[in-house]
Amino acid sequence: MSAATTRSRTPRTPDRLCAEAVELARAAAEEAAAPGIVGEHVSVVAEGDRVVTHFFECREPGYRGWRWAVTVTRASRAKLVTLDETVLLPGPDALLAPEWVPWSERLRPGDMGPGDLLPTDAEDLRLEPGYTGEDAPPPNSVLSEELADLAEAEDAALTDRVVVPERGSIAAVAEELGMRRARVLSRYGLHTAADRWDESYGAKTPMAQAAPASCVSCGFLVKIGGSLGQAFGVCANEFGPADGRLVSLSYGCGGHSEAAVMPKPPRPAPPVLDSMRADEFPLRPTPDEGQIPPPDTTSADLGHS
Ligand code: SF4
Repeated sequence: MSAATTRSRTPRTPDRLCAEAVELARAAAEEAAAPGIVGEHVSVVAEGDRVVTHFFECREPGYRGWRWAVTVTRASRAKLVTLDETVLLPGPDALLAPEWVPWSERLRPGDMGPGDLLPTDAEDLRLEPGYTGEDAPPPNSVLSEELADLAEAEDAALTDRVVVPERGSIAAVAEELGMRRARVLSRYGLHTAADRWDESYGAKTPMAQAAPASCVSCGFLVKIGGSLGQAFGVCANEFGPADGRLVSLSYGCGGHSEAAVMPKPPRPAPPVLDSMRADEFPLRPTPDEGQIPPPDTTSADLGHS
């Protein structure tokens, strides 16, 4: 019988001899704990007929609110109380570790590092089977489905190349549509991805709200194919906030190619050159050397007068 499994039962009166065996219980708790860790006797609880648990305060700093629980018992018509079990249990206000969460629920975008492997659930709703094999050889064909797969795999291994399906076959069409993979994105996966991208780079973001124009008219937008191309494109403006990201066509930023035209720098006036007159430069200093000669107001640009 364990104290942990019986605490929720209806309280009953503890057996008197077992309830009085506090020192026996304390000695057992001190034997299990480190010296000085067992504190005051807190309470006594009846677990069953002649089965009682004594609780002692735990003084371990890392186990605040925990209690040493020592269960004692005695046989019917016997006066000797014996030890059943000793265990450390959390009290009502004990400091506990957070509830354990599986790694698959703890994982967040950006948690993966180089070399990490992220297994995908076989029932992952974001994926669905790709090429269905509708044009596989009929059952009575000389080349059964298993043999065809085997031959194809061996051929690929020997030649070290990707097997190209026969032109015009369903496999060729599936290849062209990008469906010839074990699994492809499901409708659910597509919608959740679109919602996620729209949240980060969509019309409701503050950047888009303040943008002078939307991505749909921006020269930096790279169009993409498929159904997603109707709502998204890739931004290729290295100075924009979404360079290399999938952006909603209704997103936008101040880096829009046509939003603001760079003003042309002002052209300086052509230099004025008087090439018709000779300037005089005296070889010797003039008597009033040291004084700055007055400007020559008679000089004129003949080409512009
Ligand atoms: S530069 Fe701005 S407006 Fe142009 S595609 Fe990128 S995010 Fe959209």
